Amino acid sequence: MAPRRGGAYNDLPMDALRVHITAYGCQMNRLDAALVAEVMQAAGALIVADAAEADVLLYLTCAVRGHAEDRVFSNLGALAARKRRRPDLVVGLLGCMAQEHGAGALARAPVVDLVCAPGRLADLPDLVARARAGERPVALDPRREESDAGGAASDAALDRIEVGRAPGGEWPGQAYVVAMRGCDNFCAYCVVPYVRGPERSRRPDVILEEARRLVDGGVREITLLGQAVNRYQAAPPQSGASPWRGRAESGGRTWDLADLLAAVAAVPDLARLRFVTSHPGAMTPRLALAFRDVPHVMPHLHMPAQAGSDAVLRRMNRGYTAAEYAARVAMVREAAPEVAVVSDFIVGFPGETAADFEATLDLVRRMRFAAGFVFKYSPRPGTAAAREFPDDVPADQKRRRHQALSEAIAAIAAEENRRFVGRRVRVLVEGASPRPNLHAAGRRLRPGWGQLRGRTPCHRLVVLDGPPELIGREVEAEVVEAGALTLFGRIPEE
Ligand code: SAM
Ligand code: SF4
Repeated sequence: MAPRRGGAYNDLPMDALRVHITAYGCQMNRLDAALVAEVMQAAGALIVADAAEADVLLYLTCAVRGHAEDRVFSNLGALAARKRRRPDLVVGLLGCMAQEHGAGALARAPVVDLVCAPGRLADLPDLVARARAGERPVALDPRREESDAGGAASDAALDRIEVGRAPGGEWPGQAYVVAMRGCDNFCAYCVVPYVRGPERSRRPDVILEEARRLVDGGVREITLLGQAVNRYQAAPPQSGASPWRGRAESGGRTWDLADLLAAVAAVPDLARLRFVTSHPGAMTPRLALAFRDVPHVMPHLHMPAQAGSDAVLRRMNRGYTAAEYAARVAMVREAAPEVAVVSDFIVGFPGETAADFEATLDLVRRMRFAAGFVFKYSPRPGTAAAREFPDDVPADQKRRRHQALSEAIAAIAAEENRRFVGRRVRVLVEGASPRPNLHAAGRRLRPGWGQLRGRTPCHRLVVLDGPPELIGREVEAEVVEAGALTLFGRIPEE
């Protein structure tokens, strides 16, 4: 039986319940999947990899785009026959769609037995127990105003699960750590502020305790998370002064992300520190200098531009022009030229003309992004864009722009990657390569070696041959070939 932790979960009949978790969407959901596993295991349940074996199916959903939602509802619909055969199967809708649809999800997807919003994960064992007893519970986030004790209590409950959880994220040596919850930016197209609530920065001492525990448990790389993580602002811990330069001036004043990075980077044995996602409007000279001056902060900045046309950016309520975006990138590159900048884009936003789209392509050509994620605009109920602007770019135009922009980004990424050929890079080896047939020409595998995957400091994916003992360690590799998404490395023989 899995060990139990005290408190509310103790009396729940969870023993031997097999739970399967499916996570869609962003890094925040991947972290939430780890928290769900933690909280269910603490209540005595067993997490299983095969959904067919499970007594409880939990879906951590994303509400950012309509087609992701449609896919979840259609996957839930497909469970109807199984549920008829096994009426005691519990199906839970979690994540952003849970907050967005609330009790409405029970009507739209009759197989769903429980609905649990992102801020209510600590209540999950109780919700599962109630669902097994025949209820259909719905747990939504409480309103979060400053005076709202319910919101503060649910954040504190999340903090407790997060701080105590087992290490491991994308791979066993990596972990996500929440720096901020919610978002106050209200970009016109975006549902996140409505489903994840207002922006709240976590206390630095809580973040540091979590980071220390994770690193003690074997984590080498931490990624701090927030929707606009560079807006981080929090009262300093009791000890006051930040380890960031200008110690005297930083003592006692509010900490920003540069202070937090310096404090987390000082955790002994942490090898790499990253943060996502940054908002261009909140990119400061201090943070740009952190890339240069704070050890272990990796040269990797995910700072979505979304569009290159000022008219579109204005309608998106992004709060900057294309020239201001370019100036922020220039500031970062001046401080630390090796920083790889990654962007997101939305194509087909209402009113986007051919000239607007050309301005986005132009920004891509000028910024030379290391990678980019392109999304077709999807109107989200309740957002300003859905209310105010007709979704007037035809679907086939969105598709063509999506393809053209993706190709432009990939071509530049491939050119940038080719600059690495012949150079040596530090690779933190994450595990075995999931596609071991993808390799450089002329490769000869030594006995006992396999194909491994890892990342450069700038987050480029490297596949290389090596012994399994390298997993979790940093090695120096020579880049022998490069594609748009992958570098092929070789461990030098000397
Ligand atoms: N907070 C992050 C930021 O501001 O960059 C990420 C938010 S969202 C989860 C990730 C990406 O989804 C956004 O950067 C945006 O490109 C895209 N996105 C958000 N809402 C969208 C919508 N309604 N239609 C299409 N793409 C959308
Ligand atoms: Fe959405 Fe904008 Fe907030 Fe990102 S910054 S989560 S795009 S509202």
